[in-house]
Amino acid sequence: MSTPLSLFDLAEAFRKPGCPVCRLMRRDVEKYIHSLLFEGYKFPESHERFQASRGLCNAHAWQMAESFKGALLNIGTYYAGALRQLLRDLDAPDLGGAARSGLARLLGGGAGEGGSALADRLEPRGPCVACTIHRTSEQLYTRTIGEQIADPRLAEPYRASEGVCLPHFRMALRQASPAGQRELVAIQRGIWEALLADLDLFREMHDHHHTGEFMGEEGDSWLRVLRGMAGEEGMFGVADGGKK
Ligand SMILES: [Zn+2]
Ligand SMILES: [Zn+2]
Repeated sequence: MSTPLSLFDLAEAFRKPGCPVCRLMRRDVEKYIHSLLFEGYKFPESHERFQASRGLCNAHAWQMAESFKGALLNIGTYYAGALRQLLRDLDAPDLGGAARSGLARLLGGGAGEGGSALADRLEPRGPCVACTIHRTSEQLYTRTIGEQIADPRLAEPYRASEGVCLPHFRMALRQASPAGQRELVAIQRGIWEALLADLDLFREMHDHHHTGEFMGEEGDSWLRVLRGMAGEEGMFGVADGGKK
């Protein structure tokens, strides 16, 4: 079996702080938004998909705003198309073919279309395109961890790292063989035990000094445990395309 490229990406990401899956997902989404804004911009299909999903979801819209301040014209053009489509849908006639616009019927009250039917029509018709990448990327890296953990090129940097966040650890476990599961648990348990020891030391030092000044490794253990259990900021509860 050939080695997937994702194994090398993971090995490199394990050498940096935080969960490598979270980190690579963010990188992949960033790359995707870049290609959407620059290469994809020339193709009508990109604009159609963007319009169908009513732009990007909350998390990815703000990631784009934050990371691509040099592409404001392209962002504005994509959103102008999405807004134009939204206005068309607002005015779309009923199946009954009534001549009045949806908004006019709504404002007119009476036997007009209910607000919830109009609200339904304003729902996205496709997933946020960045969420699609977010999910695909998450699947790829958690599967690689689950399936390739016997490979020392992955296991060694994993063992020396901050580990995988809890949600991604669960996903990796579910894709591992029984032997792979044992290996994963052994590595991650060691990381969590060391983290707990740091956290206990952190609390002790805090009690004694009421300051972080004398702290070593344990100084940021409160942050490591937070991202280790919850995952990196904005990584979960986002890939739902804005729906429940
Ligand atoms: Zn993660
Ligand atoms: Zn999204």
